[in-house]
Amino acid sequence: MMSKLNLGNGKYVTVNKKFDTDIYCHTIVCFDDNFSVNNFINGQLQEGKVSKIIVVGSKPQVQYSNNVVFTHKLTKRLLKDSEQVFFMVNVDTDEFVINNLIRLKDICDELAIPLGLRIKMDIVLGNIIKDDSDMVVTLKALFTTNNLRSRYEMIYDYICDNLDELFQKNNFCQFENDKCIYNRHDKSEYNVMGCCYSFKYHSLLGCPVSFYDISLCKHLRSHSCSVKCLGCKLFTCKYLRKRGIVFKLDYMVIAKGFFTKGQRELLRTTFFVTKEEVLDKLMKKCRG
Ligand code: SF4
Ligand code: SF4
Repeated sequence: MMSKLNLGNGKYVTVNKKFDTDIYCHTIVCFDDNFSVNNFINGQLQEGKVSKIIVVGSKPQVQYSNNVVFTHKLTKRLLKDSEQVFFMVNVDTDEFVINNLIRLKDICDELAIPLGLRIKMDIVLGNIIKDDSDMVVTLKALFTTNNLRSRYEMIYDYICDNLDELFQKNNFCQFENDKCIYNRHDKSEYNVMGCCYSFKYHSLLGCPVSFYDISLCKHLRSHSCSVKCLGCKLFTCKYLRKRGIVFKLDYMVIAKGFFTKGQRELLRTTFFVTKEEVLDKLMKKCRG
């Protein structure tokens, strides 16, 4: 059954597990690990409705036609002759798919290749087989803004909101009268307010040797955080970590797809700051 996923700004993708609608487009970029001659899109190529198929897959594939190209990574060379591109994602969302969708968007912008098909006032960009939340936010971040900071902000918000939901749903910190479970066990350095304490280091020849000026974080207002700091949201204390409650950006498909290793490290280690401050730092660590 086909449905439509509106991304905003007049753009949408269709969600269709078995795509079998006639399509007239110069190039189809097809994310598929099991592409075969019996594929519906290959039939469209044989009928002359499509001129070229670029199959993006993580597994090695057999080349069987000059108009069907297999690749692990989209490049300008592969796309440069395309007059118009439509994409099809026939696999689960992972960082490999996200990386290549980013490449597709960037290359089409750079070479001024129209992406998607115009249908009346709208543009249908492609077809996906699953509208899981990682895919939805990926498509919105890529195709509703051309501003990299806004793109990062959408991904940042999405990860923060997911973590908030997880903490609320599972009540990991078990706050009672401002005391979290770790504070109540008298195991932490503090008695109340969880671990929302900022601090500075004493240093000896540039090496941190101990904390000084330990004080409640300035962003703690009326017993709750007034900012959106991803580093703080990812942090879990020794008590929770011992119980297996650990969050890593390296395990999150969306973070691995959009952020470099250096950016993920920056996000993990930046505490006590506002979202705007984190985004400023992130922009300075963009892919080259
Ligand atoms: S992470 Fe640990 S110390 Fe911080 S609020 Fe939760 S239980 Fe308390
Ligand atoms: S920024 Fe971090 S330390 Fe400060 S209140 Fe928010 S969660 Fe707590």
